[in-house]
Order: sequence, then C-alpha cells, then structure tokens
Amino acid sequence: MGKQGKKIDAKRRVETDLIALGIATAAILMFVGTGGTVLPQIVRSWLTGVAGPDTLLMNALLLNIALIIFGMRRYRELMSEIEERRAAEAKAKRLAEIDPLTGCLNRRSIAPATDTLIQKCADKSQNIAFLMIDLDNFKQVNDLYGHKIGDEVLISAAERMQAILSEDALLARLGGDEFACVVTFDKASPDSVDQIASRLISAVSKVQKIEGFPVEITMSVGIATNILDARIEETPPDAQALLHRADIAMYQAKKQGKNRYFWFESSMESELRLRNELEQGIRRGIANGEFVPFYEQQVDLDSNELAGFEMLARWQSPDLGLVNPSIFIPVAEEIGVIAELSEQLIEQALIDARYWDPKLTLSVNISPIQLRDPWFSQKILKLLVKHNFPPQRLDIEITESCLHENIGVVKSMITSLKNQGVKISLDDFGTGYSSLTQLRTLPFDRLKIDRSFVGELNDEDASEKIVNAIISLGDGLDMPITAEGIEDDTILSALRGKGQLKGQGYHYGRPETAAQVRERLERLELLVNVSEVAESGDEAGLTEPTEKKQAQG
Ligand code: C2E
Ligand code: MG
Ligand code: MG
Repeated sequence: MGKQGKKIDAKRRVETDLIALGIATAAILMFVGTGGTVLPQIVRSWLTGVAGPDTLLMNALLLNIALIIFGMRRYRELMSEIEERRAAEAKAKRLAEIDPLTGCLNRRSIAPATDTLIQKCADKSQNIAFLMIDLDNFKQVNDLYGHKIGDEVLISAAERMQAILSEDALLARLGGDEFACVVTFDKASPDSVDQIASRLISAVSKVQKIEGFPVEITMSVGIATNILDARIEETPPDAQALLHRADIAMYQAKKQGKNRYFWFESSMESELRLRNELEQGIRRGIANGEFVPFYEQQVDLDSNELAGFEMLARWQSPDLGLVNPSIFIPVAEEIGVIAELSEQLIEQALIDARYWDPKLTLSVNISPIQLRDPWFSQKILKLLVKHNFPPQRLDIEITESCLHENIGVVKSMITSLKNQGVKISLDDFGTGYSSLTQLRTLPFDRLKIDRSFVGELNDEDASEKIVNAIISLGDGLDMPITAEGIEDDTILSALRGKGQLKGQGYHYGRPETAAQVRERLERLELLVNVSEVAESGDEAGLTEPTEKKQAQG
C-alpha cells in the first residue's frame, strides 16, 4: 500500500472511531433518559404484577444497552491499538539510533546522546572526553579474509571496548571501521582518559582467532574534551565540535604512525587547514600545469663531460612560489594523484629533452606507488613512442623503499621496462634496506650513492670507507655508480680516481629550468637543430618545450 493509501485508510478509521464514539455517547444519554422512566416501571411491574412498560420503550432500552456494550468494546480495542502503535514507533526510533551490526549507537544518535551526557555532567561538575577511533588495518583484513570475517572483527572490537567502558559511557559505530566513545571524567584527573585510551587500544589489538584465521588489528584514537579553552573559544564545545576535534587528533595519531592516541590541540586545526589547502592546491596545480621539470646536470667524472640530466619536479604555485618536491610529492602520493603528476612531468621532460644532443640521457624519479600500477611500463612505452624518444636515453630512478613492496611485482616491472630498452637506477643507495640478494636478483643498471655519504667525504674517514665499500660492491655486481651531492672541489677530488663514476651536485650548479638548460647546451654546442625536431614533431602537438609553455601560461 502506498503512502497516500495508508493516509486515507487512517483517516477513515478515525472517522469510524468518531462515529462509534458518538453513537456510544448518544446511547448513554438515551439510556439515562429512557432508563429513568422504563426501569422504575419494570421494577414496579415485578413487585405489583401490574402490566410492564411499553414494548417499544423496552426495545429502545435493550438497544441502548447493546450500543453501550459495542462502544465499550470499541474503546478497549482503540486503547490496545494505540498501545501497539506506540511500541512500534519506539522500536523504529531505537533502530534508527542503533548500528545494526554491533548494537552500538550510530552516527546519527551519538551527537544528541553526547549533548545529553554533557548536560548531565554539568550538574555533577564533571567533564566528558570524546574519543574518535579508527581501526588501522581493517581494509587489509577485509581484503585478506573477506567481509564476513571483517564483520566479526568489528563486532568483537565493539565488544572489547564495551567491556572496558563504564555504565554511563557511550559507544557508537560511526560507519565502516570508525567508532566513537564518550567517557566522563573529573576535571582534576584527565589522566583517567589516557588510561581508558591505552586500555581500549591494547584490548582491541589483542590477536584473536576468527574462524581459524589469526586476525591482528590496531587502532588510532583522537581525544577532545569539553573543557573550555578560553584562548580559542567563549563557550565550551558541543558534541559536533568535539567530534570534529577528536577527528583531527585521530588524523594526527594516524600520521604519527598509527596504533596510538593523540589529544586535540588547537594548532592541529590550523595544520589541517594548511594541509587541506595544500591538497587542493596540488589538484588545481595539476589541472593548470603548474608543475614543471627542473634539471640537474649529471657529469662523467673522468672526462668531466656532461652526460645527461636528472629531472627534478618543482611546483610553481601561484600562492606559495617555487615549491620543492619534498613538500608536495608525499602529499600527492597520499591523495592518489602522484601517477598523474609524474606522467605529466615525464611527458614534459621528454619534450624538453628532444632538443638536447642525442648522447645526453634523461633520468626521472618515480614513486613506489607507481610501481604498483601493472600498466606503468606500458604507459612509459606509450610516452616514448608518442614523443619519438629513444628508450636507451631514459633512466628511471627508483628508491630503495620500492624494495619493501612486493618484490615479485617490482622485478617483473623492472624486467618489462628493461625489455623496452629503458635503464633502471637504484637511487639514494645506502639509506634503505636493500639486501645483497635483492641487488643480485633485480637487474639494476646503476647504483646512486646517497648524498649523505658523499657529502661527508671531505672530513669523515668513516664515510669514505662506506663510499669505497659501495663502489667496490658496484664493481662486484657490475653496476656502474653515480655519486650524488658533490658540493665542492674537495669531494670531487676525493671521488676522482675511485673508478669510472658519474656525479652530480651543487658543485656543477643548482637544478635549472628547461630554458636555462637550453642556454647551457647552446653554449656547449649540444643543442640539436630546432627545425629538425619540429619536422619529426609528434602529431599530438605537444612539442612545445617547458619554457614556451611557461611563457604562455
Ligand atoms: P633525489 O632523486 O635524490 O634528487 C636529488 C636531490 O638532491 C634533489 O633535491 C637535488 O636538488 C638535491 N641535490 C642535488 N645536489 C645536491 C648537493 O650537492 N647537495 C645537496 N644537499 N642536495 C643536492 P630535490 O629536487 O629537492 O628532490 C628531492 C627528492 O624528491 C629527489 O631526491 C627525489 O627522490 C624526489 N623527486 C624529485 N622529483 C620527483 C618526481 O618527479 N617524482 C618523484 N616520485 N620523486 C621526485
Ligand atoms: Mg633521483
Ligand atoms: Mg637521490
């Protein structure tokens, strides 16, 4: 039955109930009227044997009695119907406030329940703490064992937390793997909240077996209280504000390595705002082409000749100026736009490098996240073909942290790139944990000694030993070496004579724009004829070097 149908039905029932009520009332009034005359006549006829009252009057009296009984029954039915309806409404309300999986409160009900608790606590001069909880590795559990086990994990997490919380505390599941607790505490002992947070974390993280699978889960917690902070507000925060603050603190806990709790501090809010602005800026920057390649020279240390350039990303932000990759690469990785950003930069670098002498190589850095993309090597090949760039001139630098990834996937990716002719270097070597086995099984073309070792070559004996060790390791594995971070003559002299090395660093100049590179190459007579490049230009019309684009932009 539709909503409209139900409405009409209800209206009709109200009308019939009103009529029934009217009839019963009229019947009672008539009973009083007729009964007043008829009943004494009946009694008299019994006592004296005189003829009884008129049959018509008798019938009217009997009808009255029947109508009164009918009215009473309808009234009783009505009462029980109202009772039933009240119970159904209460049940619906309860269901709307409860998370069906865990039986906790839900996102909708936690805020009003918290506000009520705040009211109650104000009378007892107590405070409340709002704990925002997020399970750290729940997605993996779901992926690994399936949703049924995932549900069991959520139920058991809720039970374990409930077991720790006192009677008056609130527990809610806000959705997915997100929970919230609200606990009361004495203003004088906020450390009781710390204790609760620690106990919650250790209770939930206890390993458990679900359907035979050993499931291990950790959680991050953010805490905010309704104690007034006169520096930032005039009135104490309400439930909605507490939820927001606890969420910010929880985000900090995640950022600081998960499996821990953090109290909200007002500085976190501005940090989060900055971070949001940064994220939006990066997304906008990609759409507006604000990311540009800079280039650092790579030199053959023996001959002192230019061998190629390493492309280093820079963000020409209209708000922040020129931004270094250490600021925006990690954020781009986190928000999932690194591949798009990197491909944009590599494409631009391929276009820029077509004006360089063909003997010059182009190195590009890629993020471990890109290596997870099974289409990565196809994407690179497509770009090479599109810009008619010889694969042998391209060198892809991957950092040691890539080796923490699934090593089989990394190996097949490297092999597939190498089959196309692309070179692969291991960047920042010495800072990570690559093992000799990995170095032997992964077919790298080159090792790049991290600048932290090279930079200290001028004074520290120990570092020289490390550099020497890496160089002989490269020799043994038949992998040529590039030394990063050559900052001055002392370092350069220390490196000379240590074998056939390439080097790069501020000694040769800071990373330059595409235009500066072209000027440099022009002086060195290492620029190819621009008209030749234009003739072999690609059909997509993407042959404009970075500086032209920048000028237009
Ligand atoms: P990296 O690949 O090791 O790049 C070398 C970094 O060292 C560059 O910093 C460069 O400016 C700096 N450098 C060069 N010579 C010297 C020197 O003599 N002394 C010192 N102290 N530093 C020197 P930059 O440009 O800030 O890049 C930092 C890191 O960001 C790079 O380290 C690379 O890992 C990453 N990166 C840069 N561009 C990209 C990119 O397009 N994609 C990805 N995924 N990462 C990138
Ligand atoms: Mg590099
Ligand atoms: Mg490096």
